[in-house]
Amino acid sequence: MSRVKILDEETISHIAAGEVVERAASVVKELVENAVDADARMIRIGISADKTGITKISVTDDGVGMDFDDALLAFRQHATSKISRPEDLDGITTLGFRGEALASIAAISKVTFTTKERGSPSPEAARVVIHGGELISHSAVGAPEGTSIIIEALFYNTPARRKFQKSVPTELSHVYDMVERIALSNRNISFVLLYNGKERFQTFGTGSYPDVIAAVFGSSFSKELTPVAGSFGPVKIDGWITRPGSEMKTTQTRFYLSINGRQVTSRQLQWAIREGYGTLLPKGMYPAAFLDVVLDPRDVDVNVHPTKREVRLSREREVMRCIQDAVYESLHEERVFSTAPAPTPARETITTLPSEIVGEPVPAYAGKREMNETRQAPLKQTEKQLRRTATEDLPETDLFVPEVLGQIGDTYILAKNESGDLIVVDQHAAHERIMYDQLLARSSSAEAGQELIVPQPITLSKKEIAALPDLLDVLAAAGYLLEPFGKDVWMVRSVPVVSSTLGDPETIHAILDAALDGVGNTDEVLERVLKTAACRAVVKGNTPLTVEQMQRLLRQLMATKSPYTCPHGRPTTIVLSKARLAGMFLRT
Ligand code: ADP
Ligand code: MG
Repeated sequence: MSRVKILDEETISHIAAGEVVERAASVVKELVENAVDADARMIRIGISADKTGITKISVTDDGVGMDFDDALLAFRQHATSKISRPEDLDGITTLGFRGEALASIAAISKVTFTTKERGSPSPEAARVVIHGGELISHSAVGAPEGTSIIIEALFYNTPARRKFQKSVPTELSHVYDMVERIALSNRNISFVLLYNGKERFQTFGTGSYPDVIAAVFGSSFSKELTPVAGSFGPVKIDGWITRPGSEMKTTQTRFYLSINGRQVTSRQLQWAIREGYGTLLPKGMYPAAFLDVVLDPRDVDVNVHPTKREVRLSREREVMRCIQDAVYESLHEERVFSTAPAPTPARETITTLPSEIVGEPVPAYAGKREMNETRQAPLKQTEKQLRRTATEDLPETDLFVPEVLGQIGDTYILAKNESGDLIVVDQHAAHERIMYDQLLARSSSAEAGQELIVPQPITLSKKEIAALPDLLDVLAAAGYLLEPFGKDVWMVRSVPVVSSTLGDPETIHAILDAALDGVGNTDEVLERVLKTAACRAVVKGNTPLTVEQMQRLLRQLMATKSPYTCPHGRPTTIVLSKARLAGMFLRT
């Protein structure tokens, strides 16, 4: 039965353009995804390599296969059985839909493709051989149901592309990573991965997450994980994450996310996981996470990136919330908080803010100490810093703000809530969280920057000058406009809207320093820039605050999405619950 059709021009024009075959791992991805789409129960992937590179890729499946004519048609540009009209792009349920992979792969390698349609009465299978886009043969052969494709001489006719291939171990590690990811998100399918004939791993299609994780990473690793599940309206999440106290990594490589069965990356959702850990995550450390997100296909736009590694979610906020809550609850349930301070939201128990205190700020230490000139100056400075993050549209209701009791060490705010919990807030970390969120919200918009009335000249080091051209876009997203002026002098023309002091040479150097530490990833560099800017424009430690100022700070903090950690991952807040206090006094 013929299923494959060439897409019409209109549909083609709606598909995000771009190259899908960059390296061996992209070939493996496309072929394995085709097998998944073909309803395979078993997929066998073979890779062969010698010193010169990867010599052969084979993928065999027991899926639906194709009939004789479709086998050839499938290799034409824009040939697909998965969509037929532009509207179909709004609710994609298959991994493929572009109809380009087989054509692209066959154009740059030597392909032998054998397929037999499931349930077909004919004893014969179709074989198509194509070298560099040229049809060598289309014949009938004997073969079992399903599809087998062999790729040899990859990039043999595109020397430029071949030159870009990294060492064999690097290319292999990308292939392994790809197959592992697809196996992890398709747990009902049995995968076998072989390298030069030797088995790397095998999964058994049991549908169980721990089974697949154990098969891929070993059973001792899978024991370090704890399950996480949750749902929020139509959003469902399910997965496994590192149990606190188990080994965390300084890199975020062990992050496996699938959305509706598709392996994707998403900094936002990864961030939500870390937020769910809150203070349970040591600074600069990352948990492993295996997470399936299922939502209405219409809420997922997969047509944004040719290799579909990134998707756009129309309910991203809800998904993030759902993940954050589920992670938080899962860690809570396990009672892992026994020793660590819990970032308890204690929503219903925190008292509301007493009506705004008006008039002159009353220092928290009034009565204890004389007010004098030297105390007034920092208060004014603090006032300026706090106003930078003041917003009119803070929700009035539904916001529970602990009541300030005082300040200790000119650095920590003490507060209480109605249920008798003691709350300690790091004033600098708290204000950083507030500032960072606001900077991030404004970034990349026309409101990110303000022009300086007097541009600020700044002398840069050789290293900074060399790196600056690549950073200008990110800096612009943060609100910074820098222009070359003299030999090693640049002019700062605009800075983030919150404060003109963010143009100070010292701050600019700090920001460039932070940006240079980011490894080429734009989002990460922007984050670093904003964190550094936030840190510079906010209330510091060792600064006396008035009760009213502290109350305002807590109010701003509680209005943020993640009040319990600062952007660097340090806690902003420690809660000593009433129960914990009772325990400490041996009252139980
Ligand atoms: P897409 O997956 O985007 O549709 P491809 O070029 O990857 O485009 O494949 C073209 C078509 O060939 C698919 O739509 C599918 O009908 C068919 N096909 C490819 N691989 C397989 C397979 N392993 N089993 C069955 N059919 C396949
Ligand atoms: Mg495909």
